[in-house]
Amino acid sequence: MNKIDHLKKRIDYNQEQRKRDKQRSERDSETRRTIDESPGIAKMDFWCEKCRQDFTGEGIKAIPYGLDLNSNEHYELSPLRAYYIGHCPTGHRAIRYITDKHRDPYFYQSVMLQHQRVEYADDILQPSDERFRKVYGDPLKPYYEAQEQEERANWKKRLL
Ligand SMILES: [Zn+2]
Repeated sequence: MNKIDHLKKRIDYNQEQRKRDKQRSERDSETRRTIDESPGIAKMDFWCEKCRQDFTGEGIKAIPYGLDLNSNEHYELSPLRAYYIGHCPTGHRAIRYITDKHRDPYFYQSVMLQHQRVEYADDILQPSDERFRKVYGDPLKPYYEAQEQEERANWKKRLL
């Protein structure tokens, strides 16, 4: 590789790096906004892992910080994160994510949410779905019944 190629490569690398830094700081400021806009205390749904049950309770906003052992000062963790801490009726700690919401374990732990999902799925069921018959019965049943009655009537007519 000659010198010019080498320099070009370094410029590309630096530009790439700057782009990444910019994306990261944009992401950080968005995260910061999300955290700032979340109320300090809010009523919300939790899942208690120990009791294995859903509960609604007060969540208190928490932002974990790092501690610099040299200066004894707190510093922001990167990436920035925050969550709500709640306590179940028995006193166990439960958590809901403020940042990285899509990774909040609550969404796959909560039994209440799973029930809601099934209910919602039932609402949008199509007659062609396997589950439709289980929930609503056979959609063609009235048709079959009508057909059967007609056949019976015809059969009786033939006997007369
Ligand atoms: Zn509990």
